[in-house]
Amino acid sequence: MTSKRIGENDKGINDYKNLISKYKEYKAIPSTLVGPTFVPIDLTYGCNLKCSYCYISSPEETDELDTEEWKEVLDDLARIKNFGICLSGGEAALRSDYFEIIE
Ligand code: SF4
Repeated sequence: MTSKRIGENDKGINDYKNLISKYKEYKAIPSTLVGPTFVPIDLTYGCNLKCSYCYISSPEETDELDTEEWKEVLDDLARIKNFGICLSGGEAALRSDYFEIIE
């Protein structure tokens, strides 16, 4: 049995790669970009609001990462030359280490 990397031959992945090629062709993003264009990160399940349509209050399947674990994730994203991230949640600013993670 041969192994296959996740998403290796998926139409969605190929469409994404084609889209990124077009962005580079039209100089919408740097031509040297090799990592993901944009990574949204949900730092926390916590929020001070309870919007009825929100998924964040659904059952938590995993624990939140701690400060050092997030730093490792962000270091990994920097290593693969990620272009941009969005820190979200929940309400990301509710984390006591919010500014440390940003830094
Ligand atoms: S995370 Fe956003 S959408 Fe969800 S409850 Fe908080 S403010 Fe509302």
